[in-house]
Amino acid sequence: MSILPYRPEFANESPYGAPQLDVPVCLNVNENPYPPSPELIADISRGVAAAAAGLNRYPDRDFMELREDLSAFLERESHVHVDPANIWAANGSNEVMLHVLQAFAGPGRTVVSFAPTYSMYSEYARDVSATWVAGARTDSFELDLDEVRSVLERERPGVVLLTSPNNPTGTALPQEQLIEILDIARHTGPEPGQASLVVIDEAYVEFRRDGVSSALELLSDYPYMAVSRTMSKAFGAAGLRLGYLAAAKEVIDQLTIVRLPYHLSALTQAAARACLAHSDQLADQIAKIREDRDSLVEELGALGLKTVPSDSNFVMFGTFADRHAVWQGILDRGVLIREVGPEGWLRVCIGTPQENAAFVAALKEVI
Ligand code: PMP
Repeated sequence: MSILPYRPEFANESPYGAPQLDVPVCLNVNENPYPPSPELIADISRGVAAAAAGLNRYPDRDFMELREDLSAFLERESHVHVDPANIWAANGSNEVMLHVLQAFAGPGRTVVSFAPTYSMYSEYARDVSATWVAGARTDSFELDLDEVRSVLERERPGVVLLTSPNNPTGTALPQEQLIEILDIARHTGPEPGQASLVVIDEAYVEFRRDGVSSALELLSDYPYMAVSRTMSKAFGAAGLRLGYLAAAKEVIDQLTIVRLPYHLSALTQAAARACLAHSDQLADQIAKIREDRDSLVEELGALGLKTVPSDSNFVMFGTFADRHAVWQGILDRGVLIREVGPEGWLRVCIGTPQENAAFVAALKEVI
């Protein structure tokens, strides 16, 4: 028996994390495979050096310049104007989401999502002592409005988390469906007259196919919706740890209450601003990743495998009677993918053309 005052609810828990293995090809955590350009590295270094000169002082607690740069980026990327005052940021969208749940969920409140979806959500809910409820998706991994209505009306959640494109399936949430869900959520908050806060996690949205829109377009009409994004995926800056969120000022005000003071370091703010200044150079890279994704879907189909239509930088494929054996066989050939999602399926993210080829070669040998 330990003398530590363990919290009973954490008794059987273990830390979350995909395996970080030292293998030649890593296609397991949905990163952008292309490292920053020499010009960007030089700009990050300059920005960080300037911030280092003032490191004896605390950083700008409200990260105003970064908010302005994020606002300008959203305008370029999604053609939606989001005022800097309507933008929040933290160390990865993981931390953004924790702030959201600290502010709007917590003990006695419920957090709802629809499985299969991003496996961290249940852990955020656990960490704020909220109740976690996962409704079901359809067999093709889309949302079913009847199911959404019944779960929301039954649970009256403080927060509803919807991922678009969804992880691990890659499926985007169509705008018409989102509008119907928002109309339902208007009346399903914890107290009569309240709405549930609907958070659209758009971590992968920059990879969406033509014709798929961002939830940002609806932001000004729905003050109980928030859109979360990250610089970890399309931006190619997973090591930076910068996630952000767009929402009504009232939502941002609540997040400001729960954040730790000075949660975004001056170095993070400077490096993020340098990355944002180079965001125009991402367009070609994103186009290439989308193209390679679509080719990989075709190749997997030609091998007789099923895939799920993807608007992200990964593809879920299957199905296998023993998916672990397939995952292990691919790993034994130097390629790490992810054993995640519904039974029988595996997920691979898009790498460089050489990495994708190594994956396909390994897969062909294994199946
Ligand atoms: N949301 C989704 C759907 C994700 O897949 C991930 C990363 N795997 C995140 C959020 C977290 O991203 P980050 O904390 O790096 O911004």
